[in-house]
Amino acid sequence: MPKKSTKPRSGHRTRSNGQDTPVKKPATRRPGIKKQDLQRFRSLVTTMRDETVSELDSLTESLMPEVVAVGEQPDEPLTSVQTVLMIQRQRKLLNLLEASLVRIAQGSYGTCSSCGNPIEMGRLEAIPYTTLCVECGKGKQE
Ligand SMILES: [Zn+2]
Repeated sequence: MPKKSTKPRSGHRTRSNGQDTPVKKPATRRPGIKKQDLQRFRSLVTTMRDETVSELDSLTESLMPEVVAVGEQPDEPLTSVQTVLMIQRQRKLLNLLEASLVRIAQGSYGTCSSCGNPIEMGRLEAIPYTTLCVECGKGKQE
């Protein structure tokens, strides 16, 4: 009875190919955000902009007959007042979104306009049109 010891060799291999490439850091360290993130935010902001534009359109449309109906007396119904407020809010938002697109094009997007620090990614995800970092946003609660 021949004793056969076939020990299974455990995968003990030595990797000797000198493929040890460390993650190269770019020499020019930009404080801004990554290019792919920038593209993502650009499409995000563009979508929001388009939505805001169409929302403004329908708001303005819904307001039209009432505005025409309102004669000399500015005695508009409450719904109309709310619509006007919503239009104002949407216009403000639209301005912010347009400004964000400009900032993206200029490469200043993602940088706090108050302190110059990069704006936190999570904050940009939540409010893509913000121009302030979390810290500066705290003080400027509008
Ligand atoms: Zn700041």
